Amino acid sequence: MSGPNETESLKAEYSILKERLNQLEDLLIHDPHTGLPVRRIMEKRMRELLETAGKSGEKIGFGILRLDRRYARIRHTRDKMKVFLYMTAVRVKNIIGEENLYQSDRIDEFLMIIRQVESREHLQNVAEEISATIQQPHEPPATDVSFGCHIGMSMFPDHGATTTELIINAEIALGVYETRKEQGAVYTAEIGSQYHENLNIEAELYEAIRKGLDGFHAVYQPIVDKNLNTVACEALMRWDSSRFGSVPPSRFIPIAEDNGKIIILGRWMLYNALRQIKKWKDTTGQDISVSVNMSPRELLTHDFVSNVNEALTSLKLKGKSLFLEVTESTLMDDPDISIEKFKAFQELGIDILLDDFGTGYSSLEYLSRLPIDTLKIAKPFVDKMHDSSKSLEIIRTIIAMSKNFGYKTLAEGVETQRQLDDLLELGCEYIQGFIVSPPVDSIEFELQFLQKNRAT
Ligand code: C2E
Ligand code: CA
Repeated sequence: MSGPNETESLKAEYSILKERLNQLEDLLIHDPHTGLPVRRIMEKRMRELLETAGKSGEKIGFGILRLDRRYARIRHTRDKMKVFLYMTAVRVKNIIGEENLYQSDRIDEFLMIIRQVESREHLQNVAEEISATIQQPHEPPATDVSFGCHIGMSMFPDHGATTTELIINAEIALGVYETRKEQGAVYTAEIGSQYHENLNIEAELYEAIRKGLDGFHAVYQPIVDKNLNTVACEALMRWDSSRFGSVPPSRFIPIAEDNGKIIILGRWMLYNALRQIKKWKDTTGQDISVSVNMSPRELLTHDFVSNVNEALTSLKLKGKSLFLEVTESTLMDDPDISIEKFKAFQELGIDILLDDFGTGYSSLEYLSRLPIDTLKIAKPFVDKMHDSSKSLEIIRTIIAMSKNFGYKTLAEGVETQRQLDDLLELGCEYIQGFIVSPPVDSIEFELQFLQKNRAT
């Protein structure tokens, strides 16, 4: 028989053990960083909710929220990372309710349940509200930290009868909207078929690359100065697939960016374009520059600058023969690395063009500090320039600002004589668009723009 002391110590040991077990159980069902319940718990709750919703007719939304690449950049500061994750979770909970947010298997991903959904639009509005709240700056001293998110959503019973189906369709919506760079979040039948089409295009792309970029070629669109002389051209990729026919770059480039194949395509394009202008120089005596689009993935490869330099030297071309086009979003992916590489390119004599200017979110102050040479005014601004006096004012301001910063200005997507006249009148130095010519193949380009130039 044990004495009273022994019983007491056994009791104490038992309660310590129980406490440890509770802690362990807590660890198994809660994420240690955010304190949120884990995916397994969400799945269990979803199953229960779907069972009752099947009878009551309640529509239930399911969402995946993935923080964007700007978040990944601050991840290395571990302490901060925890605070931002925690604060982000609090913001989302304030919208969808404390009990409806869960941690996914990934640290930068949350899972959401949205109760009492009225319609698809209602769910889309919730996604937009969440997205807006996440983009808000954080409390001092972290006001400089900002990141966004991508959201994919599905709805019971319209997009699936089971938790697994709802998860898959939310995941599909997340992926497709992200590659399309669209704000949408909620799954649709069209998104579903685009996903399957993307898979087919991707398989065909792999096959074409395996066969040495079968079906790929480049077309060239002239860039003219204020006297309408062709001074450069933009090289644009075309793909005639044996299975799908002509696939527009807006379809296959985002897929290639996503799976990394853009690096192979981009390198092929660079060599092709440089070889082409070298050939034109030799055959027509015309020394024009070629402008090549650059994807974020290419810019971030460590040997990108040396590869470009090697391409130029192997063809005995000077840096001024090449322009590189980048978009604001490329820049925002990793501003420090981008800026460092732009400077290296400029040292080689290569001009950097900021593509689609006006469609991003960078501040003017930030833009003024960038090592770039030319602003390309995005087509939507040119399209709208005669809609109102305000739109024309915007173009005037962009051109004036660009001059102030010491940049050249190029307007793209110029289609009408009136747009052309007004842009030149406002001091825009370079023009590109259907008013001059659509992109054409190399033979056509030589005939139309180089031999003609030589004759005059
Ligand atoms: P972007 O760089 O903004 O290229 C301009 C697009 O506008 C081209 O479409 C061009 O054909 C079209 N365009 C030019 N002038 C006009 C006009 O006056 N009116 C209209 N309606 N359209 C005009 P494209 O060739 O279909 O290229 C689409 C996008 O695909 C490009 O947009 C670029 O982001 C990407 N892309 C194309 N080739 C490459 C490439 O070699 N590498 C990379 N990374 N991206 C590429
Ligand atoms: Ca471009």
